[in-house]
Amino acid sequence: MQKGPMSFSSLGLTELILRAVDESGYTEPTPIQVETIPVVLSGKDVLAAAQTGTGKTAAFVIALFTRLQKNKPSSKKGPRALVLAPTRELVVQICADAQALGAHCPFKVQPIFGGVDYEKQRSALQSGVDIIVATPGRLIDYAKQNVFSLGHVESLVIDEADRMFDMGFLPDVHKIISRTPRERQTLLFSATMAPTIR
Ligand code: AMP
Repeated sequence: MQKGPMSFSSLGLTELILRAVDESGYTEPTPIQVETIPVVLSGKDVLAAAQTGTGKTAAFVIALFTRLQKNKPSSKKGPRALVLAPTRELVVQICADAQALGAHCPFKVQPIFGGVDYEKQRSALQSGVDIIVATPGRLIDYAKQNVFSLGHVESLVIDEADRMFDMGFLPDVHKIISRTPRERQTLLFSATMAPTIR
C-alpha cells in the first residue's frame, strides 16, 4: 500500500521533466496523473473520464514528453505526437502547458487552428515539428495537401472527446486517425463516457 502522498519522482519521469514540473510549482501529482502517467509510459492505450480542473492536461503532456525522450525517434520526418482538441482556446492552453513542462526538452510543439495565417502555420509545419496540437478541421486541410505526414505518429491524444463529438468533429477525427499508424498509442480523455465516445 502506498503511504502518504505520491511524488512525481516515483512516476518514472526524466530529470528534465522533473525539473520543469518543479518549476511549474507542482509538488504532488493529482489522482489522474498518478493513474495515467505510468500507463502511458508503459506504452498502453488510455481511456480516461476526466473533467477540466483535474490536471489531465499536465498528465498527458508530462507522459508524452517523457516517452518522446525515452524512445529513440525514427529517422523519418513528421510529428511524433499529435494532440487533438475541440477549440482554439484549448489548443492554446495545452501548448502553454507544453511550453512550461517541456521547457528543458528539445521538442518543437506546434499549435494548429483555424482563423490564423494559413501560410505561416504551413511553413512552420514544413520546417519540422515533434508535437502538433490541433483542432481537427484545420489539421485535415493541411493533411489533405500533404504538407506533412502523420505516418510516424507514436502517440495520439484525443482531448475532450465528448465535446469534439458534440461539435460534429467525429468525421474529421476519423480521417485523421486513418492517417496515423495502426501501431500507435492512443490516449482518449472525455468528461463523459457515452457509448458513442467509447
Ligand atoms: P486541467 O485539468 O488540465 O485543466 O488542469 C487544471 C489546473 O491544474 C491547471 O491550471 C494546471 O496548471 C493545474 N495542475 C495540473 N497538475 C497539477 C499538480 N500536480 N499540482 C498542482 N496544480 C496542477
